[in-house]
Amino acid sequence: MKICRFDKGRFGVVVDGGVKDVTFAFQSLPKATYPYPVHDVMIAALPGLMTAIAEAANGTEVLPFDQVTLDLPVANPGKMIAAPVNYQKHLEEVREQADLHHNNTAHMKQIKEIGLFLKAGSSLVGPNVPVQITKTDRRNDHEIELAVVIGKAGKNISAAAALDYVAGYTIGIDMTVRGSEDRSFRKSLDTFSILGPWLVTADEIPDPSNIDFELTVNGATRQKANTRDLVLSVPELIEYASSFYTLYPGDVIFTGTPEGVGEVKVGDRMHAAIDGIGDMTIDIVAG
Ligand code: MN
Repeated sequence: MKICRFDKGRFGVVVDGGVKDVTFAFQSLPKATYPYPVHDVMIAALPGLMTAIAEAANGTEVLPFDQVTLDLPVANPGKMIAAPVNYQKHLEEVREQADLHHNNTAHMKQIKEIGLFLKAGSSLVGPNVPVQITKTDRRNDHEIELAVVIGKAGKNISAAAALDYVAGYTIGIDMTVRGSEDRSFRKSLDTFSILGPWLVTADEIPDPSNIDFELTVNGATRQKANTRDLVLSVPELIEYASSFYTLYPGDVIFTGTPEGVGEVKVGDRMHAAIDGIGDMTIDIVAG
C-alpha cells in the first residue's frame, strides 16, 4: 500500500491517478502530550491501522493528484541516519574530484571506516517544498537515495532479521553543500533533506536490493543506478546502525547515493524517480 499525507493533516492511500482520503482511519492516533515521544507515532501505529485504512479506502472517491498537495510521508522521524560513500563508483568519483573531497581524507574512506552520520530534523521537508540555496558561493549538490523507514524499535538487529523492522520505503534527497566541513553540518541546511512523495509499505518491496532509480536535472539524467550496487545493503545498514543505537519507528535511513552527483543552481528543476515507489519534482530556489 502507498500511504501519503496531504493537504495539511490529511492521510491518503495512493492509487492510479490520485489519492483516496482515509483520514478517518487515523483517528485513533494518540493525541500529543508533553514530553513528546522520540519516535514517529503514526509509523508506530501503522501495523494496527492497516485493516481500517483498507476499509476506509474501499469505495472512496479518488482525488486527482493535481487537486492535492502532498506532505511529508513521515512527519517526525526521531533521527535521520545517512550512509556516506555507499556505492563504490561514487567513492571513486569522490576520490578523483578535488571539489568533492576537498582534501578531507574522511571523505575518501570506505563506509565502515567512517561510519554513518545524522542529518538534522530541521532540514526535513516534503515533496512540495522547494530546496532553498543560501550558500550561493558554494557548490550545492543533489543526491538521490533509497530511504528506508523503520517500523519498530530494535537494537543489535541482525541483517537476517532486518527487513522485519522496515515499515516501508520512500524517495530520499540528501542535499549537500560541498566543502571541507563535517558531513552532518553541510547536509543539514534548511530544506536539505527531502522525503516523498509517499510511503510504500514494505510488503510491496520484498527485496530492496534490486531497485532502479534515476535523478534528472532540467530533464538531463545525472544519476541512474540500482540498489544492487550498494556497498552495505539495506539489511546490512540496519544491522550496522542498530549496533550503535536503538532504531525507533519513523527513524529514516538514507542509504547512500550512487555516482553522478552534481551541482544544482537556483532555477533548476530536479526530478527523482525510484521504481516501485514513484516520482517527484523539486524546484531549486534562492533561500
Ligand atoms: Mn548522501
